[in-house]
Amino acid sequence: MTTAARSRTRRRRRRVAFVVAPLLVVVSGIGAFVALDRFAPDALAARVGAVLPSGWLGAPSVPAAGGPAPGLTTEGSATPDAPPAATPDPPGADEPEPPPTVEPPGRGYDIDSPGSVTVVVNKRRPLDPLEYAPDDLVPVAGAAVTMRAAAAEALADLRADAQRDGSPIAVHSATRTYLEQRTTFEGWVAQLGDEKAERASARAGYSEHQTGLAVDVVALGDPCGVMSCFGQTDASAWLVANAYRYGFVVRYGDGHESWTGYKAEPWHLRYVGSGLAAAVHEEGEPSLEEFFGLEPAPDYGE
Ligand SMILES: [Zn+2]
Repeated sequence: MTTAARSRTRRRRRRVAFVVAPLLVVVSGIGAFVALDRFAPDALAARVGAVLPSGWLGAPSVPAAGGPAPGLTTEGSATPDAPPAATPDPPGADEPEPPPTVEPPGRGYDIDSPGSVTVVVNKRRPLDPLEYAPDDLVPVAGAAVTMRAAAAEALADLRADAQRDGSPIAVHSATRTYLEQRTTFEGWVAQLGDEKAERASARAGYSEHQTGLAVDVVALGDPCGVMSCFGQTDASAWLVANAYRYGFVVRYGDGHESWTGYKAEPWHLRYVGSGLAAAVHEEGEPSLEEFFGLEPAPDYGE
């Protein structure tokens, strides 16, 4: 081989090496990349996803085939074996909304029938009929008056317990007929004038005393033997604390005149039955007008 020929051969080898060496570098790099990729997070997750919860190792949070493993469900998702929940058809968009339900006053009690023990009578709610008279009046023990049977029986229990507790109570008046109420009211008008009489007494047909369920009491054995000072007696305090246990409410409490139309009458008890009396007591002794959601009855609306 000539010198020139050897020189050509050396140049050819250098060119081959120049081309092959980078190729080897590239090929070995690809091999290393493939090897590393087998242990990259996604590839690892794909191989171990069946035993690890989703979210581990950066795996996509798509459940593996077959659903999530039991015990790994997230809040609100269905249990694996539960059938898909039935989805009710959504209401039609143009379906009219039902009107709001307006509860009638009375909270489920009969406050309208004159013979109901829970009837509400005031200056805006006359008895219907105006001359209503109860048909089950009985004598009240120890007094020359009458009340409806259930009220008379409850009053006897109340008075026995008040006496036991040292606050004996006597009965002043109870049921008045339509005609007796008219006479009573006219007597107050003659004595006090129209305005004061309206705050102290009811017109005939508008009085609780006509229902047979109301009673006015006085304290026995107390310096105050009349109704006007009854509010300062022990008997009055006993009634405020205990009357509800016997089915009575102190009907015209202090501070409720704008609702009831009457200044406070701590001596005037109204039998309403033990259920209603307890409910009124539970709510802090509002007037019956407030308790039942009725309109205020400060006057006759004339
Ligand atoms: Zn009264």
